[in-house]
Amino acid sequence: MKREFRWLPYEGRRHAVRAVLVAHEVGETLCGVPLVVPATSPYERWCWPTCPGCDSAWRSHEGIPAFPRDGRAPGRYTPRRRQARDQRT
Ligand SMILES: [Zn+2]
Repeated sequence: MKREFRWLPYEGRRHAVRAVLVAHEVGETLCGVPLVVPATSPYERWCWPTCPGCDSAWRSHEGIPAFPRDGRAPGRYTPRRRQARDQRT
């Protein structure tokens, strides 16, 4: 399946942009930041944090539930097996 958006590191965040944008082209991120697509994206820029605005816009476009789900905070995941065990006691 052809994706409509791709991820692109830009000004300290990994943003989503239209997949058709090529290097040096003027466009904007999914969260609305105007940009000129950089010619290269050095490896370390892919370690920048994901832009929350682009993440939620991309998820709603793809039909993926927002994160964190059910109001759970990220990083506080409890495995199902442990939940079941905890409920028995
Ligand atoms: Zn963004």
